[in-house]
Amino acid sequence: MSRYRYLFGPVPSRRLGRSLGVDLVPFKTCTLDCLFCEVGATTCSTLARKEYVPTDEVIAELSDWFREGGGADYITLAGSGEPTLHVNFGRILEFVSDNASAATAILSNGTLLSLPEVREDACRASLVKVSLSAWDQASYERLHRPCTGVSLDAMVESYVKFRDQFQGKLWIEVFLLKGVNADDSQVARIARLVDRIGPDRVHLNTAVRPPADPLAVAVSPRRLLELSALFSPPAEVVASFRGKEARDIEPPRTEILAMLKRRPCTAEQISAAFGIARPRVNETVRHLLEDNEIEETPSDGETYLSAT
Ligand code: SF4
Repeated sequence: MSRYRYLFGPVPSRRLGRSLGVDLVPFKTCTLDCLFCEVGATTCSTLARKEYVPTDEVIAELSDWFREGGGADYITLAGSGEPTLHVNFGRILEFVSDNASAATAILSNGTLLSLPEVREDACRASLVKVSLSAWDQASYERLHRPCTGVSLDAMVESYVKFRDQFQGKLWIEVFLLKGVNADDSQVARIARLVDRIGPDRVHLNTAVRPPADPLAVAVSPRRLLELSALFSPPAEVVASFRGKEARDIEPPRTEILAMLKRRPCTAEQISAAFGIARPRVNETVRHLLEDNEIEETPSDGETYLSAT
């Protein structure tokens, strides 16, 4: 059992490297109760910002972890609720910046960024990831079941302001569910809002682990890739379909090539899109490269493949 109450990990993360999690609110204390929440139903639905867990104890745990030589690429405020509900999350970010070389991240649903003091504190992070998966108030309420008073329009406006004042990396996650928000026209409207904000990256995700609500039906990996093209620049598909057994079959070379003509993808994205084991995909990629049908482009630590 971990000796820490508020720290978890570090866990390996494809985008954040080794990420040490810091959980600042009790289990399922959140401003939303999303259909797709993998942690379960929200038990404390609130907009009240408080010192949910003692700031000094969190800092003491971090000090201890640093003293013991703990290393991570990111110290990440995340967990089983909304981290910006903690009134001192900015102090914790400041402590990490002053005492460690690791970068800091906040994984937030973005509802509280409409408060100037939350935006100001969030500016201390190296990276902030927020959500935007709806196009109007009705779709927002259906998907996220927010606390009374949370307005999508106000949230989008706050993202625009935050983008302006934040020097770090801003990522937006768009969470899509079949039959809820994954039609072309719906995603195009979300993409228009995202465009106004201008994040550094857009991630498309879907319900890959069993969510609490039966309405939360996953969008297929191939459909996610299609929808990613509605964003400019195209969004990245981050859903990790680990639960699905990757098949050990011959990859469909022509279809892969057709996909790479539309947009660049990594080998991992191809493997997820077709549900085919990585070694088989790697073999096909190698042949396509030898035949000069595709080329590799490194970007942000990933290798993207595109048709020549
Ligand atoms: S914001 Fe996150 S923690 Fe809160 S209900 Fe939605 S998915 Fe769950």
